[in-house]
Amino acid sequence: MSIVLIRPSTTAGSKINTARSFHSTVKYLYCPKCKELRLKAWYERRNRCSRCYRDATAISVPNSWLTYVTYGLYVIAPALAAVYLTTDVRPYIWLSLGGVIIMIVVSFVDVSRGAAYAKKRIKVTDGDLQGFRKRGWR
Ligand SMILES: [Zn+2]
Repeated sequence: MSIVLIRPSTTAGSKINTARSFHSTVKYLYCPKCKELRLKAWYERRNRCSRCYRDATAISVPNSWLTYVTYGLYVIAPALAAVYLTTDVRPYIWLSLGGVIIMIVVSFVDVSRGAAYAKKRIKVTDGDLQGFRKRGWR
């Protein structure tokens, strides 16, 4: 059995934006008007707020090891299910199910990590806005 190798997306700091292939970084969209932060879907081309359709700020969140664990399990779990289907050895299906459960948990943790990262960025932006207000610019 061969395992598909997952291409490391950040090769030595080269900033090639291949977002539409296997997304290299997770992006969040933040609408300053609605104060809404959400995960940008891979099929979305424009940075647009889903509520008011205004331009939203895109926040890129760098991949963590959790992201790679998710990608790895995404490949391994179906592979184990395939092994079960061909060999009919029961433990493989349990391993596969376990892999799926771990994948869900890890991706959830990763998404909340990303959201926390994005929120930190927003705080900075909001801080700037308050600074503008103090100076009477807005
Ligand atoms: Zn909005």
